[in-house]
Amino acid sequence: MYVKDIGEFGFIRRISRGCLVRPKHVLKGIGDDAAAFVPSPGDVTLVTTDLLVERVHFLRDSTSGFNLGYKALAANLSDIAAMGGTAQEAFVSIAIPEDCPLDFLEDLYEGMKKLGAEFAVNLLGGDTTKSNLDLIINVAVVGSVPKDEILYRHTAQPEDAIFSTGFLGDSRAGLHLILNNIPVDSKEFMVLKDAHIFPKPYLREGRFLARKRYAHAAIDVSDGLSSDLGHILEESNVGARLYAEKIPVSQNLKKFCDRFEFDPVDFALAGGEDYTLLCTIPTDKAEEAVRDYVREFNQPLYPIGEINDSGRLELVYPDGKMKQIKPTGWDHFKSV
Ligand SMILES: [Mg+2]
Repeated sequence: MYVKDIGEFGFIRRISRGCLVRPKHVLKGIGDDAAAFVPSPGDVTLVTTDLLVERVHFLRDSTSGFNLGYKALAANLSDIAAMGGTAQEAFVSIAIPEDCPLDFLEDLYEGMKKLGAEFAVNLLGGDTTKSNLDLIINVAVVGSVPKDEILYRHTAQPEDAIFSTGFLGDSRAGLHLILNNIPVDSKEFMVLKDAHIFPKPYLREGRFLARKRYAHAAIDVSDGLSSDLGHILEESNVGARLYAEKIPVSQNLKKFCDRFEFDPVDFALAGGEDYTLLCTIPTDKAEEAVRDYVREFNQPLYPIGEINDSGRLELVYPDGKMKQIKPTGWDHFKSV
């Protein structure tokens, strides 16, 4: 069955079930000219959007609708996490080619609803239209954060310690397995593949770092450690030194790299789509922040380096050798 068999409004009726997981403060969700909700009093509103285009960001043949929907929302939630906020409402606009089965589309909304339910995010509306060739999805998420707790990119300071909330490089390894049709024949490979398909938005962690006022600056790793840390350095007008042996690389990634002769640090630096948070914390708060974080989440906050005023990004190897690194993550407009 296709959308043309039930019409746009039939389609909207089908997907609108289970969209409202946090009805409080929502006056109207799907089904009117605009959604209406009461924003959190006193907070600043955060808005982020993300556009996914078939053949640019995903291949319809090599993903399920569920996985695509899940990840589309996860990427947006991660941006709210990076600002220290709480995600609240999501809006999904979709341009549908005629040959896209209804099952795939319903599955796509199921993926978003599953993740939305996990983080109390409502699906409050969007737009549906026809596309001549490619499936195009735009997700917008609205969140909120107290004004004096917002985490920006431009506020890192020399001597801040730099942390990651999780492993880096796993997602890129998972993508390598998928793109090269490598059999996922071990638990290790399964975890890597899942890291790519079902990235965890670090919303609770971002909120914690903001609420406790530990972090000076933060960003989420969507394009790769070097590229995303590069944004903090550029916006804050600072430099940084990273320590290769401190970069959190999972045992799963190490095994993968052993087998295919890759360098795990390269995967961490240039990988992308890990959606961990990078944050910078002043030295006098770092020890307490790490202790408090572990107590709260039962997970480590990984120190990976420090901010300085060099204006460069340098990587230090265990033998003391140092190299300057250029951002090597994903840039949509770069031709090489
Ligand atoms: Mg981001």
